[in-house]
Amino acid sequence: MKLIIGNWKMNGNLDEKNFLFKDLSNTKTKNKIIMCLPFTLIGGENFGITLGAQDVSNHENGAYTGDISATMLKDAGVQYVLCGHSERRLHHNETNEMVKEKATTAIKNGIIPVICVGETMEEKNAGHTIAVIKKMLSESIPENGEYIIAYEPRWAIGSGVTPTNSEIVLAVKIIFDTLPNSMPILYGGSINATNAKEIASIPYVDGLLIGSASLKSETFLPIIKTLD
Ligand code: PEP
Repeated sequence: MKLIIGNWKMNGNLDEKNFLFKDLSNTKTKNKIIMCLPFTLIGGENFGITLGAQDVSNHENGAYTGDISATMLKDAGVQYVLCGHSERRLHHNETNEMVKEKATTAIKNGIIPVICVGETMEEKNAGHTIAVIKKMLSESIPENGEYIIAYEPRWAIGSGVTPTNSEIVLAVKIIFDTLPNSMPILYGGSINATNAKEIASIPYVDGLLIGSASLKSETFLPIIKTLD
């Protein structure tokens, strides 16, 4: 069984959600599918699909206009939340410390955080991949509770380029060895129906985090099928 998490980012509308979710609910698979939707699409009819969000406030409640708390997500039926996606780190200046607070708040409210880590192309070229991953892990993972780690090299997200299998195995083995307890580890970055099976079969990879290919049945269902 592999975990397959879809991340719609800031894309999609209600019709598109209904279309994909109906197809997903009719798809028999031994894998676990989780869909991380924009906040506005989380409520309503979900056809039995497991819901995730793409972000959560590091605060419990209060005067934080525009933020969404873990209790609000829980209330809306959310079971998983992305924490520290590289686009949040890049565009919203999220630090490891904030990511840890977000993950801790999620856990406290019964939501499993999916903590994203990964190096930039500059860091990779400088030979710093392992050091960057270790630092992100040591500063972002919560003290207690259940969580998922997603290894997402920033340069692989939305670029159509993926690391080699040996680069992935090196990174995910470091993550596996660094975590105090055994937690699921995902790979994310430019997954499609052609590369999904091979990458999901790499040792220590428990599943995939999928962005643009999760938006439509035509691209998402073949990935799910190829992992069955
Ligand atoms: C992502 O957004 O986490 C991601 C992996 O995107 P893509 O699959 O489009 O590279």
